[in-house]
Amino acid sequence: MCLFCKIINKEIPSEIILEDDDFMAFHDINPKAPVHILAIPKSHVDSFSEVSSSMMADMTIFIQNVAKEMDIEKSGYRVITNIGDNGGQEVKHLHFHVLGGAKLAWTHLSDSNPKVFL
Ligand code: 5GP
Ligand code: ZN
Repeated sequence: MCLFCKIINKEIPSEIILEDDDFMAFHDINPKAPVHILAIPKSHVDSFSEVSSSMMADMTIFIQNVAKEMDIEKSGYRVITNIGDNGGQEVKHLHFHVLGGAKLAWTHLSDSNPKVFL
């Protein structure tokens, strides 16, 4: 069983902020922003590459509710999903990083030399 399936099963503790029958959201253990939540489906999906359009439709509403719950909807936030090795995905269970609570850096992407891929 993967790490996030164990978190869903409560075999590994987490700080849950929102949960329904299909999805769960909890604080990232190593936050990269004042608000850093992971939103995941309860049924195991390896990554964004495998997710169905119907699950994504419900996931979208769930992520919107995470932003409301964390009170970052108005101030703004960022949603990221890493996919596979080049995408930097460490946990092979689909998850969306929901980041906010401060002005997030974008410089390494917006100002970087387009020939240099960091
Ligand atoms: P990835 O690199 O796969 O996109 O993101 C995995 C995320 O899971 C990382 O941000 C990491 O800090 C977080 N993480 C890894 N292990 C745990 C854990 O046991 N509990 C929680 N809450 N987050 C974890
Ligand atoms: Zn899993």
